[in-house]
Amino acid sequence: DTQPDVPVLTPWLAPIVWEGTFNIDLLDEHFQSQNVTIGLTVFAVKRYICYLTMFLQTAEIHFMVGHRVNYYVFTDQPDNVPRILLQKGRQMVILKVQSYARWQDISMRRMETISIFSQERFHREVNYLVCVDVDMKFRDHVGVEILSSLFGTLHPGYYAIGKQFFPYERNPQSQASILENEGDFYYTAAFFGGSVPEVYRLTKACHQAIMMDQANHIEAVWHDESHLNKYLLYHKPTKVLSPEYMCHTAEECIWFQNKRGLSTIVKRVRFVTLQKNMSYIRTD
Ligand code: UDP
Ligand code: MN
Repeated sequence: DTQPDVPVLTPWLAPIVWEGTFNIDLLDEHFQSQNVTIGLTVFAVKRYICYLTMFLQTAEIHFMVGHRVNYYVFTDQPDNVPRILLQKGRQMVILKVQSYARWQDISMRRMETISIFSQERFHREVNYLVCVDVDMKFRDHVGVEILSSLFGTLHPGYYAIGKQFFPYERNPQSQASILENEGDFYYTAAFFGGSVPEVYRLTKACHQAIMMDQANHIEAVWHDESHLNKYLLYHKPTKVLSPEYMCHTAEECIWFQNKRGLSTIVKRVRFVTLQKNMSYIRTD
């Protein structure tokens, strides 16, 4: 079993996490001795509530097994959150948020909500935050190997591609703008995290940038993801997750992803996007 050549360190010497680069028993022991608690934030607003059962059920099997976990489910319909039987040491906190007419606003406002709750309660309740999309499922181990003060995840569609092809916001008027010759990686907004203070700083900065753009009647091309990419360019993550942690399963995306050679490189498909029925799910 020969691992193809993959980068395991960023140019600023942060680990890039792939299967084979870590010893999970050693890491489990280390984080258990610290009695670490991990907060997993997820938003299920409007019709996206339909993803929660699959998301939570697969998280119970694959996410941080053996560690203390708080699920923070942000929703506009607390009564419709499915009640899942959780393993020992794991709990669910349902938090009510307002809904917005446009899906872009629901997606972007996650930055504001996470920053507010980091300051108000997460800092007392958890050591690390993991912030993910809900239209996803866990398929394989996602554990403490991802934890670090600030981490981002490589977007599978833009893996090993020239930075000039990254879909960064290019309008210099936008707070998210990145010049043609700048950039390290293209990170997905569907999976990032870190210590509570670092996630607070990140989400607060992104929210402020989004509000600044809004005041200037600008919306970055990939919404919160554009702002996340700008932030991570100037605040280098201390760990980077390989596309094992974000794989596409929808047909059109698999094709795109295979063009990036990922089908041979990715040995463990850990966390995957689900096929969305857009006409049902996006009501606007
Ligand atoms: N979201 C939501 N309700 C909506 C739109 C978005 O709860 O009506 C949340 C949900 O957590 C979703 C995330 O915002 O996973 C990002 O939106 P989406 O997954 O549609 O973006 P994509 O992955 O297609 O870029
Ligand atoms: Mn998504």
